[in-house]
Amino acid sequence: MNNEQLQVLQGKVNEIDSVLIRLLNERARVFRELPAEYRARSLCLTESMWREAGEDENAPLNSQAIRQLRDAIARATQEPVKPAKPALRVSRQAQPENTVIRFGDVEIGGGGTELIAGPCSIESWEQMRQTAEALQEKGVRIIRGGAFKPRTSPYDFQGLGIDGLKMMKEVADEYGLLTISEVVTPAHLEAAAPYLDIIQIGARNMQNFELLKEAGMMKLPILLKRGLAATMEEFLMAAEYIVSRGNSQVMLIERGIRTYEKWTRNTLDISAVPILKQESHLPVLVDVSHSTGRKDILLPCAKAALAAGADGVMVEVHPNPPEAWSDSEQQIDLAQFRSFADQLMDSGLWNRSGQ
Ligand code: PEP
Ligand code: MN
Repeated sequence: MNNEQLQVLQGKVNEIDSVLIRLLNERARVFRELPAEYRARSLCLTESMWREAGEDENAPLNSQAIRQLRDAIARATQEPVKPAKPALRVSRQAQPENTVIRFGDVEIGGGGTELIAGPCSIESWEQMRQTAEALQEKGVRIIRGGAFKPRTSPYDFQGLGIDGLKMMKEVADEYGLLTISEVVTPAHLEAAAPYLDIIQIGARNMQNFELLKEAGMMKLPILLKRGLAATMEEFLMAAEYIVSRGNSQVMLIERGIRTYEKWTRNTLDISAVPILKQESHLPVLVDVSHSTGRKDILLPCAKAALAAGADGVMVEVHPNPPEAWSDSEQQIDLAQFRSFADQLMDSGLWNRSGQ
């Protein structure tokens, strides 16, 4: 076949295509005039006509090709593309400005940086007092302490429960600190609330949807930890559960995810910080203790968190880590805490709110 013949044939194909396109558009126009219930059933040529077309042995298109054409035409001439799902409430698309969580002159998410520190578990008055004193000395304004502990082994210390929260609250009041602690079941939310300024939902409960829904009915801010193997999308969806129920005061905290790496307890996903800040208007913090599980790299990891745009850092501190009733390996003692706080606050990345 010479070039001229090729061009003639190509011209014919182009002509047929343009007629087909015109006819298909015409078909879509007519089709969409049909009542909605017909359109919903993707009514097109009656089945028997398509079948007959497919059975014509002299036609170049076989029955499979005809079926594919029928389906493609039906799809293309159906309803116009449905509008995209509404943006998530936690997304920047829905709310371009940052959510700022305020407790008096303490602000999280407003451009300042905050340190949350305290033991893994509340154990005693003395332990909480010593910790609170060190926090106050360094200008830390939020004390943490677990009272309902989600432990891997059922034989490990499970936490002092409400008695522990009372202990922390009384000490926090003495030292002018705000309190945060984890709640693991909806049944404890109301009972725990009087002793807390922030309710923590832990990594293991990030997808405890009933807990998230109930947290969404609370008035207190929620600190939501990233699940052990949660994608960022799943993390934001979990936050959406809370916000969609009416509690817009949610903070996200990256606490490391499970990977094959064994030299850290979890892998601190620093990339989550700028991505979550981009995708969401919620404050983003980083827990350097549970992510690394080590005491020796807390400072560089905390600096990295702030450099990446985190609104705050969480660190576990205990007056006597070797004797701690949980996470004794990763908690720093009070001297180590003082030095950690000094270096972080002098790093040039620190920008405390309310000053
Ligand atoms: C905690 O912060 O006390 C805790 C148990 O952390 P995570 O839920 O991130 O494991
Ligand atoms: Mn811990």
